[in-house]
Order: sequence, then C-alpha cells, then structure tokens
Amino acid sequence: MANVLVFAETRGTALRKVALEAVTAARALADASGGGEVHALVAGAPGAAAAAEQLGKYGADVVYTVEHPALGTFERESIAATVAERAKQGGYRAIVLGFSTQGRDLGPRLAAKLDAPIASDVTEISISGDTVVVKHPGYANKVVLTLALSGSPVVLSVRPGAFTAKEAPRSARVERIEPAADPAAARVVVKEVVEGAKGRPDLGEAPVIVAGGRGLKVAENFKLVEALADAFGNAAVGATRAVTDEGWRPHSDQIGQTGRQVSPQLYVAVGISGAIQHLAGMRTSRTIVAINKDKDAPIFKVADYGIVGDVLEVVPALTAAVAEARKHH
Ligand SMILES: Cc1cc2nc3c(=O)[nH]c(=O)nc-3n(C[C@H](O)[C@H](O)[C@H](O)COP(=O)(O)OP(=O)(O)OC[C@H]3O[C@@H](n4cnc5c(N)ncnc54)[C@H](O)[C@@H]3O)c2cc1C
Repeated sequence: MANVLVFAETRGTALRKVALEAVTAARALADASGGGEVHALVAGAPGAAAAAEQLGKYGADVVYTVEHPALGTFERESIAATVAERAKQGGYRAIVLGFSTQGRDLGPRLAAKLDAPIASDVTEISISGDTVVVKHPGYANKVVLTLALSGSPVVLSVRPGAFTAKEAPRSARVERIEPAADPAAARVVVKEVVEGAKGRPDLGEAPVIVAGGRGLKVAENFKLVEALADAFGNAAVGATRAVTDEGWRPHSDQIGQTGRQVSPQLYVAVGISGAIQHLAGMRTSRTIVAINKDKDAPIFKVADYGIVGDVLEVVPALTAAVAEARKHH
C-alpha cells in the first residue's frame, strides 16, 4: 500500500482543470498499488484552501493547504520547497502534478530536491511490481515511449487532457500547513499577469478547440472561427503558425511544436494543411474534425471526420448546425 501526493495547481484561488486530472491519475495509481491514500497539496493566495472540498470529491483523502498572498502568482521557490518537504515527511510512492507551465517549472525542482526520477508529459501510468511504468509522447508526438521508473518516490507530470477527471468522493481531511520557505523572500517575482482572450477557456483546459489556418485567407475571416467556437459554448480558439506569423492572431494562440500542445475532446481544424509541426501540438486530441478544400491535405490523415469544402461555406453551415443541436440539449 502506498500513498500518492498531488500538487493541485491553482490560478489565483481557483483550481485548474489539470489539478483534478492529476488527482484522478493519482487515485488510479494509489488503487493499483494496493489501495493507498491520495494526498493533495494546494498552495495559493488566501482563499485557495476552499478548493479542498472539490479535491475530496475527485478522490483526495487528505488535503494540505498553504495560503500566502505571494503564492497567488505561483511563487515557485517556496512552493517547490513546501511540496518537497511534505513529500519527505509523507514517504510517498509518487508525486503527481500537471505538465502545465507551472508543472514544467515545478517538476524538475521537486525531482532535484528529492533526488527522485521524473517522467514528464505522461499520458498513461501503470504499476508493475516495484516499477512505475508510464507512457510519454516523444519527438514531437511522432513516437510514444514507455518509461520504467524505479525507486521511490517518483515524480510524474501528466499531460493536460490525457486523464479525464472522474469523481471518486471522499470527505477529505483538511490540514493547514506553513510554507517551507518564505514566499515573500522569492528571488523570482511575477511582476505582471496579462490575461488573454476574455470569456474563453484556456487552450490547455478547453474541451473543444476550433483552430484556424491560412485557408481562412484574411484575418477578418477568423470571425467564422470565433462564431463556431461561440456556438460550442465551451471552446477555445487556436491557430497555426502561418496565422500567428501573419499577425492575424496573437502568438499565444499558436498550436504546434513551437506553440501550445493540446489534447481536447474535440479539435476542429479549419483551413489547416496539417504540417508535421502543427500535428505535433494537436494529434493527441480525442476527436479531430478537419475542413479543407484539398482532399489530399495531410490533416485528413489524422482526422476522424473530414469535410472537403470551402471554409467560407462549410464553417457557417457547421456553426448553424452546432447551435441548432445545442438548443436541443
Ligand atoms: C521549426 C518550425 C517550427 C514550426 N512550428 C509550428 C507550430 O508550432 N505550429 C504550426 O502550426 N506550424 C508550425 N510551423 C509551420 C508549419 O510548417 C506550417 O507552415 C504551418 O503549420 C502551416 O499553417 P497552415 O496550415 O495554416 O497553412 P498552409 O500550410 O498554407 O495550409 C492552408 C490550408 O488551407 C487550405 N485552404 C485554402 N483555402 C481554403 C478554403 N477556402 N477552404 C478550405 N481550405 C482551404 C489549403 O488546402 C491548405 O491545406 C513550424 C515550422 C518550422 C520550420
């Protein structure tokens, strides 16, 4: 029986979706290793401790909360020290966190502090005797590597969207703890946070992404992509590098090898050719729909559903159909 620790990521005081996905992954790992407990650690601004109840709902048996005004903007040194200290005290089998921007920073810090093996960007976790076995896409998603990690603890960061958060209710015991290093003494300080597009979910969290490419011809036509995203109601808008290089969309919208890596439930590619560098960022999406006027476009090789046609005609028709379908649900 072995317990698993989760770093439950927050933004301000709210839990990120990947935090619940990490709890689900940790729950499965704890169950597979003989029914251990899942402990979650939430570090954030005052008020972040309120996330404890939700973490219990998704399978955390114990929630450690650390609150400090400086932790609202991910004060990495103090958070790393605090998670590592908890990990040492708890003697965990694994520490699970999201492979998000925060997780990419925190995971290696934890591994170094704990002298532990780490696997990043993990999409599957299993246990085989004393070894934790994970799958991890490599070489821009062209291969899937199976990694075996020995020793204890191991640090695992899970790819956002790869594990579907599942409720597994527990009445989590909540324990307030102190930061292991003074958050106010940080050497790296977040000076400013500029919010992206308002009213839309983040690309890493959205269940649906509608992404546009050069096939839209002019920036103005991106309003078709926006309208389709609006029709879904819960969609983020993404773009290819061709589009961001043209300045039609901000660089933060770029999906691909040199942009964001996403795994939504549904990815709608609008006027996108499917260059290997773009596929590197989205081919792990659950369902891919592509709209392209060229029936031989490479995007159709990875698409589950393809529509051969002009985006200027197909997208408004699809938007109307989605809006109509949602009326009845
Ligand atoms: C080192 C490196 C890193 C890169 N990183 C990235 C990255 O992170 N992300 C990324 O996206 N790219 C990246 N690229 C660029 C990548 O190689 C492609 O150039 C880019 O993805 C192409 O974008 P696109 O599909 O929008 O444009 P295009 O390749 O020009 O494709 C446009 C598509 O639209 C279709 N089309 C045209 N008109 C219509 C119409 N009216 N109706 C329907 N379909 C239409 C065409 O048939 C075509 O398939 C990178 C390149 C390099 C060299």
